Amino acid sequence: EPKKKAEKKVLDTLSGIKHRIAIASGKGGVGKSTVTSNLAVTLAKMGYKVGLIDADIYGPSMPKMFGLEGAMPIMVEVDGQELIEPVEKFGVKVISVGFFVKLEDALVWRGPMATNALRQIIQQVNWGELDFLLFDLPPGTGDVHITLSTEFRPDGVIVVGTPQEVALADVVKGIKMFTGANLNIPILGIVENMAWFTPAELPENKYYIFGKDGCKNLAQKYDLPLLGQIPIVQSVCEGGDSGTPSSLSNPIVSDTFEQIAHGVVA
Ligand code: ADP
Repeated sequence: EPKKKAEKKVLDTLSGIKHRIAIASGKGGVGKSTVTSNLAVTLAKMGYKVGLIDADIYGPSMPKMFGLEGAMPIMVEVDGQELIEPVEKFGVKVISVGFFVKLEDALVWRGPMATNALRQIIQQVNWGELDFLLFDLPPGTGDVHITLSTEFRPDGVIVVGTPQEVALADVVKGIKMFTGANLNIPILGIVENMAWFTPAELPENKYYIFGKDGCKNLAQKYDLPLLGQIPIVQSVCEGGDSGTPSSLSNPIVSDTFEQIAHGVVA
């Protein structure tokens, strides 16, 4: 294989990756990281080689969601370059900004500092060959998103939202930012999280706590695929806290995420 030049470093570490996908949300707390972690382990379960970048500088949650708190990635030398080796769990290669900074420090990061740290994470990780690299973006739609998206060059973006009216405006903002002339990145689809709640003792009932079909209708309006609707499930929340994504154990959750994964793979 011909050696690439030093200034092509960005291309080097990402060149073995077939599909780069960014996961975005208009605002925090809608379940973006939950969706990313469950989608990652589902794709791995389906036999794909999967990597995950947790770039949520305001609150990196992948160390906790993957049970990797305190993990310290080692450095490896590849073709004369010092690279960060991702940490593997549940068949997913994980790199989190949380591996490198204390949470309370990450929270006060500002623009250029955060962007520089994330740039390094994008450029200097030994990903090797991957089918999918998922990129969990920070919530919102700011300069850091534009910079990161420009450098990471995703093939597509998954937007996560809840059906709630006020959250939908932020979903639209996200769609417009990615598909605008500036970035011009296609939206692979929308995931509606917290779509309804079904109590165990009333398995036929659906309670639309945050509203009904908000993202579904939005997807229709913007002619985008609705990749899936995820109900509010206690084990989803517990799985995030205990470090084992719920799609590895709860059949309802794993069915939902398999459906989403099929939409992503298609
Ligand atoms: P974000 O990444 O958008 O900030 P998180 O993924 O951290 O959001 O989710 C916020 C909180 O909501 C977490 O405590 C998570 O466990 C919980 N949560 C997310 N989705 C669900 C769901 N479908 N059912 C139950 N709890 C959920």
